[in-house]
Amino acid sequence: MFTRGFKSWCENVSVQLRREMDLEESAPIDGYQLAKHLGIQVWTPRDIPGLDQECLRTLLHIDSDSWSAVTLCVGPKDLIIINSSHAPSRQASDLTHEIAHTLIGHEPSRVDVTPDGLLLLDTYDRQQEEEAKWLAGALLLPRIALLSIMGRRLDLKVAAKQYGVSFKMLTYRISVTGVETQYSRAKRFSKRASGR
Ligand SMILES: [Zn+2]
Repeated sequence: MFTRGFKSWCENVSVQLRREMDLEESAPIDGYQLAKHLGIQVWTPRDIPGLDQECLRTLLHIDSDSWSAVTLCVGPKDLIIINSSHAPSRQASDLTHEIAHTLIGHEPSRVDVTPDGLLLLDTYDRQQEEEAKWLAGALLLPRIALLSIMGRRLDLKVAAKQYGVSFKMLTYRISVTGVETQYSRAKRFSKRASGR
């Protein structure tokens, strides 16, 4: 499981980044803008110099289900290559997931080229994957955004669209953060306080 304080650290990072980007604390965040703010380059396979048409076809059509995104360390900068053939909400979550790895400080994949020209990628371990998944969720939908969605009684499908995430991601965040309980408790309290 996560180390103590990890989840609140994620919430803080999410709010802090919004502040730096002049966004409301509960506002939707765009993965591409976030990457730009952090100085991380984002490419699609079409941006890879010298990649031949056959490779492109494989990455974006024939075998496009086999990968989501990958982070590479190019010189001093991180570079994320995102699978642009996936739905925008999936790209948003994959991109944010990769950014999350970087923010936590996980070492990006090392690319090795074997003598016969095969590319080998190091992958993250399971603990790192869990951490990135949690932080990505907190970046896209921090608790304060979830509470705002509930406070405004937004239809969840509409809210998912507003935040550029899938419906599944939104309901996942609502359930794992326990904001529903927090929200109804706060509502009960304010009713009591106002004597209703
Ligand atoms: Zn990952």
